[in-house]
Formats: sequence, C-alpha cells, structure tokens
Amino acid sequence: MGDTADMVGVSSKRLERLAADASKLAYSPYSKVKVGAALLTSDGRVFTGCNIENSSYGLTICAERVAAVKAVSEGSRKFKKIVLTSNLPGFTYPCGACRQFLSEFSDGLKVEIISRDRKRREFALEKLFPNAFLLRQKERAGSETD
Ligand SMILES: [Zn+2]
Repeated sequence: MGDTADMVGVSSKRLERLAADASKLAYSPYSKVKVGAALLTSDGRVFTGCNIENSSYGLTICAERVAAVKAVSEGSRKFKKIVLTSNLPGFTYPCGACRQFLSEFSDGLKVEIISRDRKRREFALEKLFPNAFLLRQKERAGSETD
C-alpha cells in the first residue's frame, strides 16, 4: 500500500496512525465505540479527535467535531482531509451532524474512512453531503474562492 503525500505534505498513512492513536483516547463507557479522527487543514496542520460520551447521552460529541473545533479554535478554518478509524466492523461514516459541521469549513474536504481491517474508502464531503446548508454568501453563490 502506498504512502503518498498529499498536496500539503502529510501522508494518508500518517493521518491514519494519528487517527488510530486518537481513538484510543475515546471516552465511550456506554457504547464502547472508539472513533478516531485526524483532520488535515489547508495550512498543513493536523488536529485529532476522539468521540466523547456523556451520561446525558445527547451531549455526546463525535471524533470529527472534536477535531474540527480544535482546528477552528487554533485558527485553522479550511479543511482538506479527514481520516477516520473505528473499532466497529465495516466502515464508520460521519453522522449527519458532523457532515453539516464539516461543510462549514470544507476546502474541498476529502473524507477517508478506514475500517477495522484497514480497508479504505475516500469520498469528497460534497458527495457524502450534497447541498449543505451554508449561510455564507460566497458559498451560496457557488464560488470556491475567498
Ligand atoms: Zn458525528
């Protein structure tokens, strides 16, 4: 399997390792599901996340959104790629809330999902979540530029 670097120089393999490491930190005493995310931003930084459950179930936050809020709160608002790992069988896709959340900061975001047995699938976020709800005028006008 190749370890090709993408346009900002962080390889898929490295992102996979970071996501898998992050998943070990998941706080999931109720579901036992452990998801890890490694988010590559357009400025070449990587932010990781894991799912964090809560006794009040509705407060649970997914790995993808943990990584996203870390990125935005550290000044990176354009997302190029997110790699996801999970301890569930098959492919663990981002939930609808995360798809919407990521759409806000997508810079042609690619979503790579790696199964427990290390099979890979990659999608453009726009394919997983077409016609996202966006209030920003430039997106509504269909422009991809600042
Ligand atoms: Zn989610």
